[in-house]
Amino acid sequence: MSLRSESTDRRSVASPSSRGGKNAVPGSANGGTAWSQRLRVNPIRDHVSESYDEFELDFSPSIFSSLEKYLPTNMLNATREDKLKYLTTILLDYLPPAARIRDQKHREYKRAILSNYQPLNKELYAMNPTAFFVPAFLKAISDNNENSFRSIVSEPFPGIFTFDMLQPHFCELLLSEVESFERWALKTKFQIIRPNTLNKYGAVLDDFGLQAMLAKLMENFISPLSKVFFAELGGSTLDSHHGFIVEYGKDRDIDLGFHVDDAEVTLNVCLGKQFCGGELFFRGMRCDKHVHTESIPEEIFDYSHVTGQAVLHHGRHRHGARATTSGHRVNLVLWCRSSAFRELKRYKSDFSSWCGLCTRQKKEQQRKKIDTTSLDLFSREGEATA
Ligand SMILES: [Zn+2]
Repeated sequence: MSLRSESTDRRSVASPSSRGGKNAVPGSANGGTAWSQRLRVNPIRDHVSESYDEFELDFSPSIFSSLEKYLPTNMLNATREDKLKYLTTILLDYLPPAARIRDQKHREYKRAILSNYQPLNKELYAMNPTAFFVPAFLKAISDNNENSFRSIVSEPFPGIFTFDMLQPHFCELLLSEVESFERWALKTKFQIIRPNTLNKYGAVLDDFGLQAMLAKLMENFISPLSKVFFAELGGSTLDSHHGFIVEYGKDRDIDLGFHVDDAEVTLNVCLGKQFCGGELFFRGMRCDKHVHTESIPEEIFDYSHVTGQAVLHHGRHRHGARATTSGHRVNLVLWCRSSAFRELKRYKSDFSSWCGLCTRQKKEQQRKKIDTTSLDLFSREGEATA
């Protein structure tokens, strides 16, 4: 079985930076001093940043809130729109040229959708917890502790969590919205960019206006869970997402090859409809170096989707989807990412706390060391008593 790394063609979110240097706003010669146009070297600790959650942004809203503390004095009382414009210019400046061109094209693509596609179910576009989630899930999240989470979550396999999450009505609305979007694309001959390199069908929800709602879903409903269940794996520092729909069945994708996600934490919720097959198969967690290695029987776990039920797992937990043999299966997938975890990972070489193979190799090394030491002790004892 070969393994592919599932990825989007998008850039990941650029790290915010507090440095000056290239940060001058274009055209800065026209107003203020050059110094006042640059970000501060040190943040204003007691500055209360505004929220950017309801904007459709190219970067995570939390990045804008964090960067606000570095704004030059003359920008602090600017309107949120002006602050957004200023900070976006800086963030874009940090993207390499190829990524900047790709980013520009993607923004034009999104703009074309947003100015032409009329949403079918407007109530989907703003987070409405009581209408979206089942009561037990909402209560566990508002109680916000491990006991409350454990009361609604099953862990059928280490590191794989399942729980009832979405209201049937929400699933129906989202399904009909995606169908409406696809009908619009077909009618207007608009070429849809698919969610990732493995799926030929499906749609990126962030691209047609659902980005702000999904950002809230991650921040307020998935982060609390991942802080508890995936704390060591980037789960406590999630700061961006990629939200999409995948579709399987006749005239859609059939199955999904073995892969890892471009995510620290993946939320996968079945929206319906009627279907047979389509089980998720998991085959152990792996670091980058060991991603193509064989799995052992203890790492094998299969999961059958249930409508409205969520699966939460680490993105490096290798998995795939078996063929949907009849009917039509649609899933909502939210890849949750942590730029801090990715940055730290670059400086680490020991992944034995989560990579199945690293763990086995480390144990083997320790076993060999113990064997050598006991052999050494034995022979010394032998010499002493000879
Ligand atoms: Zn490894």
